[in-house]
Amino acid sequence: MSMSIAAIACVPMFSVGVFGLIFNMRRSAVQRAMREELASQREIEARNRASLERSKRATEVAADQFRAMLEQLPQAVIAVDQSKEIVLMNAAAQSMLHEGRLLRSSALPSEIAALLTATAAASEGTRRSREVTLSMHEATLALRVECVASGGLAIAVLFDLAGERDAERRMGEFVAKASHELRTPLASIRAYAEMLEDADMIAESERRQLCATMLSESDRLARMVDQMLSISRIESGIARISAARVDLFALATEAVDAMRGEASTKDITLIVQPCAVSATAEGDRDMLQQVLVNLISNGIKYTPAGGTVTLSMDTDHLARSVVVHVTDTGPGIPLEAKGRLFEKFYRIENYRRLAKGTGLGLNLCRSVIEQLHGGQIGVESTLGMGSRFWFSVPMERVGRVAA
Ligand code: ADP
Repeated sequence: MSMSIAAIACVPMFSVGVFGLIFNMRRSAVQRAMREELASQREIEARNRASLERSKRATEVAADQFRAMLEQLPQAVIAVDQSKEIVLMNAAAQSMLHEGRLLRSSALPSEIAALLTATAAASEGTRRSREVTLSMHEATLALRVECVASGGLAIAVLFDLAGERDAERRMGEFVAKASHELRTPLASIRAYAEMLEDADMIAESERRQLCATMLSESDRLARMVDQMLSISRIESGIARISAARVDLFALATEAVDAMRGEASTKDITLIVQPCAVSATAEGDRDMLQQVLVNLISNGIKYTPAGGTVTLSMDTDHLARSVVVHVTDTGPGIPLEAKGRLFEKFYRIENYRRLAKGTGLGLNLCRSVIEQLHGGQIGVESTLGMGSRFWFSVPMERVGRVAA
């Protein structure tokens, strides 16, 4: 009896113990769940932070790339906010406005500032275009400003109208010269074809002579068209070089060997001087071959019989370039012609009778060397004492893996 009373008395205590136990278990389960929840929240937050950081970095990289791209643009670009603040000005704009001394400190000329702030405040995508003439410190600049409203800014491209007009004038001159030069061989081919039509009146020897001239004129025409196409591909930036390691001594020897026939018909001696240093350059093999052939061919064409055309090369370690010289014992270059020799269609009047040509070879050489290889080309000559044409191209890069 006392046992059962004791047992009964123990029931509440037991219940309290069990409930306490259950309560404790539940509490620790809840606490565990809360801890897990907290941990997973922290994990999510850390992941969010990392992805935010990644997208921030990606945005910064994209902005840097965009800024670098704008810096490289040949067009002058500026961006201005609604309070006339210049947010961006690329190098082309700096040189247009600063070097033209049309920009004082950081303030834009009022004519441009008014247009840009009004555009910045306009609705997204609004486009405006205006021609303005700026003058300051005796300098004058005629500009066309084209701008667009974007994200509270006005982004503007500035076009130098004088430059555009100059480019148009040069293009007009080029078209006039080109059509004249193309028409000349065409006219003689046509005239000779008409003479050949009346074949009965022509002696066999004269017929052969006419045919030979027609063939050489059509070759000259084809060469001219090829050279014009190559020059315009380079000038418009379409042409690309496939840069590789080029042994210029081996290339020069190859070019000379290919031209020995042409030289011996004119009794010209071709020499490649031994090269004590490694004349290995970084460039486009075929294009450099074309330059060498052009310079050697000019040497052969303009040098009188019995003369010599010599190729030599050297390295300029300071400029990290290989320099090639093509020296002839020909008539040399008159002083007044030196500055114009590399212009399109320029030919020394007195030398036209010495050889047929297009007046485009040296211009193409200059485009290949200067525009595509970042090198230099030039001529040294004293009238009556021969000419020395030279070009330099970058030396092979150190550590380049041989192809
Ligand atoms: P072309 O097809 O007329 O030779 P180039 O552009 O190669 O065209 O040369 C332009 C002009 O430069 C030639 O027409 C010629 O008058 C002059 N010239 C080029 N090379 C020499 C040279 N080695 N000696 C003298 N005159 C040269």
